Amino acid sequence: MKARRCPSITTVRKGNKDLIKDLNRFLVLQHIRQSGKVSRTDIAKATGIGLSTVTNITEEFLREGLVREVGTAHSTGGRKPVLLQFHERYSYTFGVKVEETQLRVALTDLQAEILDVKTVPFEAGSKPEKAVELLSAAIQVMRQAHGLAERQIAGIGIAASGLINRETGTILRSSLLGWENVSICKEVSKRLNGMPVYLDKNINAYTLAELTLGSKEKQRHVVIMSIGAGLGLTIVIDGSMYYGSFGGAGEFGHTIVQMNGYRCHCGQRGCLEMYASEFYLQHAGGELRRQYPHTAVERYTFSGMEQALKQGDELAARLLREMGTHIGYGLVNVINTLNPKRIVLTGEGMNYAPHFLPYALKVAEENFFAAAALPTEIVVSQLGNDAWLQGAALLVIEQLFQLPIYQN
Ligand SMILES: [Zn+2]
Repeated sequence: MKARRCPSITTVRKGNKDLIKDLNRFLVLQHIRQSGKVSRTDIAKATGIGLSTVTNITEEFLREGLVREVGTAHSTGGRKPVLLQFHERYSYTFGVKVEETQLRVALTDLQAEILDVKTVPFEAGSKPEKAVELLSAAIQVMRQAHGLAERQIAGIGIAASGLINRETGTILRSSLLGWENVSICKEVSKRLNGMPVYLDKNINAYTLAELTLGSKEKQRHVVIMSIGAGLGLTIVIDGSMYYGSFGGAGEFGHTIVQMNGYRCHCGQRGCLEMYASEFYLQHAGGELRRQYPHTAVERYTFSGMEQALKQGDELAARLLREMGTHIGYGLVNVINTLNPKRIVLTGEGMNYAPHFLPYALKVAEENFFAAAALPTEIVVSQLGNDAWLQGAALLVIEQLFQLPIYQN
């Protein structure tokens, strides 16, 4: 695989004489990837491509090692058809999540299955150079530990928080990390001999995992919302993620819900994130504490609230009820703006959902469409914590198997 350097995600390749061949290869490979095990005849039927072309293409795939033969199917007469399967270990990826005090690095196959995972701690407030150095070193060590050559790595996908330009692979600003204008793709790629590196927002990577690995139904008009230390959102329209002009869409947490409200880390006042995430527990908790002199609350975090609730603490119950109610108004605004079929909730806050989600759902029920009996389904994501890393790996896999007209 030739080395590429932070390729632009929206580059549209110019037409050329090989394009039809590439399109046929794409369609055949996509069908094999989606089918599990499939015969050449069934590929031809499903794609509408002639059997002889399918045979030529699959021969190429077998030679390249992208596909392998895996036994035969039952025959209704004549020769038993040979079944083909996508070779998920044709190459590998690394999926990375940059967190406030640690990097999580996973080695995956081409179905985004995690084969190994490591956590690399770093001090809060570390310079980006430090994170780049630790990340590059961790990838090299893991690659060598698995006996993989550099050419066997299809690329690296990085998921991070903050304002991100996915086209240039730059973290423009992350208040959580205290970083500005970090060309993370370029820097990591430089340390790894030009290996392709892709970057996206955490929640977008998670959404890729949800769309690829989660429930396949009702995913055409869906909104993914993460609730935790902050509030993230990804919009899926007609089955595709909506990125905005450079990948910045979905900063729903910074829509203003209270004029002259709490000061947000983004610089504005009254952002939804200050009222519908862990930030609210800190802001309102500080203000209300005097009214609850006997409160058991020690830390204004989700886990701190849960501890206090065990002792029947009224302040903790009030903060979570109010935060839940605010999340509900956020959901109403999403529903009324986008009319999604479904909203999927995720994020570390969901570990504490029983304490606030019922209040959110009660408010969300009364939206514009509900009056016409057109409900939006609101569900909690069934994917586990690894989905962030799998989503980061899918940033690479998506690039690898995209329609040829979008390749570099
Ligand atoms: Zn804000």
